[in-house]
Amino acid sequence: MVAQLRTELEARDGEVVAVGVGLPGLVDRRGRLRHAPHLPGVVDLDVAGPLAEATGLPVVADNDATCALVAEHRLGAARGVHDAVLVTLGTGIGAGLLLGGRVQRGASGFAGEVGHMVVEVGGRACPCGRRGCWERYASGSALEHLVAEAPSSRPDAEVLGQLAGWVALGLANLVQVLDVERVVVGGGLAALGEALLAPVRAALAAAAEAAGGRVRPPVTVLGAELGEQAGAVGAALLARERLGPGPSGAGGLG
Ligand SMILES: [Zn+2]
Repeated sequence: MVAQLRTELEARDGEVVAVGVGLPGLVDRRGRLRHAPHLPGVVDLDVAGPLAEATGLPVVADNDATCALVAEHRLGAARGVHDAVLVTLGTGIGAGLLLGGRVQRGASGFAGEVGHMVVEVGGRACPCGRRGCWERYASGSALEHLVAEAPSSRPDAEVLGQLAGWVALGLANLVQVLDVERVVVGGGLAALGEALLAPVRAALAAAAEAAGGRVRPPVTVLGAELGEQAGAVGAALLARERLGPGPSGAGGLG
């Protein structure tokens, strides 16, 4: 399929020089998807290798939220910012971390698995094998759960308020640890726009007031500008920067 995509793109836009792919889960530095709680049965899957073979092109595979952060940092809601966290609120929750102007991947490439921070000890069971993970309360799956429990079948203000409280709880923890100046909210739930972001900002401000008060400058919370495409755009940017020809090929994005 990717090989066919290459043919189509080259017919339309000219030469394709590299492939970038964003994957949901723990992606190591060789482009293997090591663990993916939301893709049952996928364990230690080599993605970059077979894709390179199928396309005859160099391939970069990275975590999808990290890719989304790269895109938003270069082209979207985190432009011009040095310290930011992007969270993708979808089936689960992922995060991309930008600290001191550089994208962070950690020692193994697995940094930013914020969806599996435990926010309720002994809470809801998570596909990762633990209980009480943040993504069980603040993701798209969590919203479905809240809607199922509510009297109305649509997410009303009360349900969104509950969801926003859980989203803000995790974000407040991240701000405490990382001291970022900007939070970008992406993933499927970002489509809710201000209906979600406004109560998240209010809850986050209340949490900040309680911890650090006026000392800590307010954190700006913005919706992702590139929407659902952010991961794909970021993966392409990473591939072009790392593997493409030209003066920028040395890997400025890290
Ligand atoms: Zn989990």
